Amino acid sequence: MATGAPASPLPEFPDESQGVQRPLGLWRGGPEGQSPSALPRRALLALPALLLPRPARAVSFPDRGLTQGGFVLGQAAPGTRLALDGRVVRVSAEGAFAFGFGRDHAAASVLAVTQPGQRPEERRLAVARRQWQEQRISGLPPAQVTPDEATLARILRERERLGVARATDSALTGFAQGFTAPATGRISGVFGSRRVLNGQPRQPHYGLDFAVPTGTPMLAAAAGRVTLAASFHFFGDLVVIDHGHGVNTLYAHLSRIDVQEGQVVGRGERIALSGATGRVTGPHLHFSLSWYQVWLDPQPVVLGA
Ligand SMILES: [Zn+2]
Repeated sequence: MATGAPASPLPEFPDESQGVQRPLGLWRGGPEGQSPSALPRRALLALPALLLPRPARAVSFPDRGLTQGGFVLGQAAPGTRLALDGRVVRVSAEGAFAFGFGRDHAAASVLAVTQPGQRPEERRLAVARRQWQEQRISGLPPAQVTPDEATLARILRERERLGVARATDSALTGFAQGFTAPATGRISGVFGSRRVLNGQPRQPHYGLDFAVPTGTPMLAAAAGRVTLAASFHFFGDLVVIDHGHGVNTLYAHLSRIDVQEGQVVGRGERIALSGATGRVTGPHLHFSLSWYQVWLDPQPVVLGA
């Protein structure tokens, strides 16, 4: 039997993956650090006019996040306004921004870029398609696959609470200061897997599972503020951290929670001990990353490509 939390019998929050397919020119972000806008302004002014590059791209980000489940961290000229498929993308005072694409995102997205004093410009982003694994788990007790009414009511209440936490839209900028792995251990479940429980298709796996023994310290993947510290039916004891601009991480099946809601945490700070609470087949950390309520693949973000 595979480890990892059995999937919920209900659809989770819908991915906000309405790709807009308009016949715009294809545009991809340039490699990180090559945008002149990333240079300090004073350095730019000091360059002789002949050496000045073409006018700075207002926005730059690496290509690697332009994929289903992908997380994009970018840099814009301060004052730039952005919107992805009509949704506002926060830009920090220093120009940092983030967005992501759901597991089932369409093949394209449109990023609207408005530089100060200029007209909006639309850029079409190609979103690469991915193949997802299939995970079949059989022989589960029927109650674990189809919960009774009282349990269902609890699940729905918890889902709403989690939805509120994940919708947090703060000006924190922990997301822009880098991510670290929340645990060290064998990966026992990957993002995006299709799940079939007792022969019934269920929602995909929206996290990354680390097989770690109960009692292992769990670390905040980035700096932020705790928005949820609670005990849930599926997730067991869980913590959600807001890293700003809609970017948040979730840690589930904990045996002990060491933080409180509202608490500010640093990157790599211990927040809990791992465990096997909630619906699990063994001790592990279920770790999720999302942009608002769009689940993203945490693996390339916390473990590298
Ligand atoms: Zn999991």
